[in-house]
Amino acid sequence: MAAENVLDYNTALEVLKSEEKDGLDVYSLLDSKVRGGLTYNDFLVLPGYIGFPASEVTLDSKVTKKITLKLPLLSSPMDTVTETDMAIHMALLGGLGIIHHNCTADEQAEMVRKVKRYENGFILDPVVFSPQHTVGDVRNIKNKQGFSGIPITENGTMQSKLLGIVTTRDIQFHKDDSTPVSEIMTKDVVTAPEGISLEEGNQILRDCKKGKLPVVDANGNLTALLSRTDLMKNHHYPLASKLPHSKQLLCGAAIGTRPDDRVRLKKLVDAGLDVVILDSSQGNSIYQIEMIKWIKQEFPDLQVIGGNVVTREQAASLIAAGADGLRIGMGSGSACITQEVMAVGRPQAAAVFSVSQFAAKFGVPCIADGGVQNVGHIVKGLALGASTVMMGGLLAGTSESPGEFFVSREGQLVKAYRGMGSIDAMESQKTSDNAATGRYFSEGDRLLVAQGVSGQVTSNGSVTKFIPYLQAGLQHSLQDMGIKSLDALREGVRNSTVRFELRTVSAQAEGNVHGLHEFTKKLFS
Ligand code: GDP
Ligand code: GDP
Ligand code: GDP
Ligand code: 5GP
Repeated sequence: MAAENVLDYNTALEVLKSEEKDGLDVYSLLDSKVRGGLTYNDFLVLPGYIGFPASEVTLDSKVTKKITLKLPLLSSPMDTVTETDMAIHMALLGGLGIIHHNCTADEQAEMVRKVKRYENGFILDPVVFSPQHTVGDVRNIKNKQGFSGIPITENGTMQSKLLGIVTTRDIQFHKDDSTPVSEIMTKDVVTAPEGISLEEGNQILRDCKKGKLPVVDANGNLTALLSRTDLMKNHHYPLASKLPHSKQLLCGAAIGTRPDDRVRLKKLVDAGLDVVILDSSQGNSIYQIEMIKWIKQEFPDLQVIGGNVVTREQAASLIAAGADGLRIGMGSGSACITQEVMAVGRPQAAAVFSVSQFAAKFGVPCIADGGVQNVGHIVKGLALGASTVMMGGLLAGTSESPGEFFVSREGQLVKAYRGMGSIDAMESQKTSDNAATGRYFSEGDRLLVAQGVSGQVTSNGSVTKFIPYLQAGLQHSLQDMGIKSLDALREGVRNSTVRFELRTVSAQAEGNVHGLHEFTKKLFS
């Protein structure tokens, strides 16, 4: 190029203003009339300008109209993914676990109860004993519920005179289980007066160095209990998804849309449920619409997520019925064969974009559910408008999912993972007592038609490491885009300042490891 045609470098930023913006806006990218339905792998986000450290990126996002999480990640209601342990850890780490319903209503309610009991501020309904209870009774509670700090009152109830307290140390080396607790309890108990704030109570706990702090009224009657363990839990998990007043962890659960599910839901609400997901692969049905209306009337404080949906038309029905959130995805799950078998579904990027743009008009947050294999897929779901992302397969391989690791034929550490529409899962729905899931079959069906497969996934370690890895990955990804929060990401996409590029098949090959003779892929350390 001749030197006289070269522009003065000082004017680069000025000249840029008159140029067409690089890349594609989201509307051109996702125009399915021109490009067909895209999946996450079909595009990339273009980088922006970095003017801040990744640690400054915040990831707060709504999961329903009323509930905001500090981390936009959910674990799927599948029987190889979310039971008590997963739900507790997802909430502790800032996300949310949705407990599956391939079990009896009582079993599911018990799992919800355990999550809600795991962390507390003031414990308003602690286990309380009378002086006549025995050491064996205390041991029993420890085995069943995991704690043994039990206040002893005159009648063995709350609002009765506090006489003492029993803790692990009192019973640890006591051999005779029939000894009444009155003989071993600590009688000189540090207490706090009714009416103190949680902050003041915590300070007394810190100062007195005890494990438990009973709160009593002017007459010495027990009104609440504080536990030192909860201070530690709050300290270790600053992002935890908790109710502002009780400090209890948030818990979600899935149900179906049959008459039995109304009875099930009542039990879950009694156990303290915060969010219910109506679990259907095709949510736009008369059953679901009626269920949403019934729930909103019966339990106005409960947040209801409808789904699954992949089109605006489906979404509109559920939004009109009163859904507080929507779950998007049909056939994109890693263990799922719906698109092949039913010929119904939608590529996930197209579905997330179409539904969440529409739902945003009504302030209804959306979950991008299924098809997430790495951090990049999470980011893409969020960039296309989802508020949160739900994972099944990725989390099935962690220590906190149900089941045990085993060594596969190839010598790898694996865990079982199965679609809830696999023959395996459906067979167990049919046989399990009171299982009302029926997501993929009706009672009258003579033949089961599978919509999922069952298999194994490789180990991802513990979610206590894996989720922080996803979190740090998300922060770095947004930093590359020059964006500091998820709200800013969605706004940037809406107003077309965040740009995209289509990825050809050879671009996808280029973007993956290539040309190496051998390599190991270690994702974090
Ligand atoms: P402990 O010292 O054996 O009582 O056990 P920890 O202090 O380790 O466990 C107490 C944990 O259980 C705290 O996080 C409490 O919030 C929780 N918890 C839930 N319900 C109760 C209850 O009824 N009594 C007690 N003591 N703790 C409860
Ligand atoms: P935080 O300290 O950042 O969690 O701020 P919050 O506004 O949530 O907490 C207000 C007060 O409640 C502080 O004194 C916290 O230490 C205390 N707190 C927060 N979470 C818990 C909890 O889970 N259990 C108990 N006992 N106290 C808590
Ligand atoms: P999907 O297969 O994922 O769409 O799961 P659903 O639970 O929505 O539906 C499973 C089957 O049961 C479908 O044939 C539904 O039409 C049917 N179904 C769902 N809810 C009800 C209900 O309340 N009553 C009846 N009779 N059928 C229902
Ligand atoms: P993953 O994260 O493994 O890609 O996908 C998890 C999602 O797949 C679940 O949240 C659920 O929506 C969907 N799913 C689970 N089991 C089945 C199944 O058997 N068939 C279909 N079609 N989808 C499933």
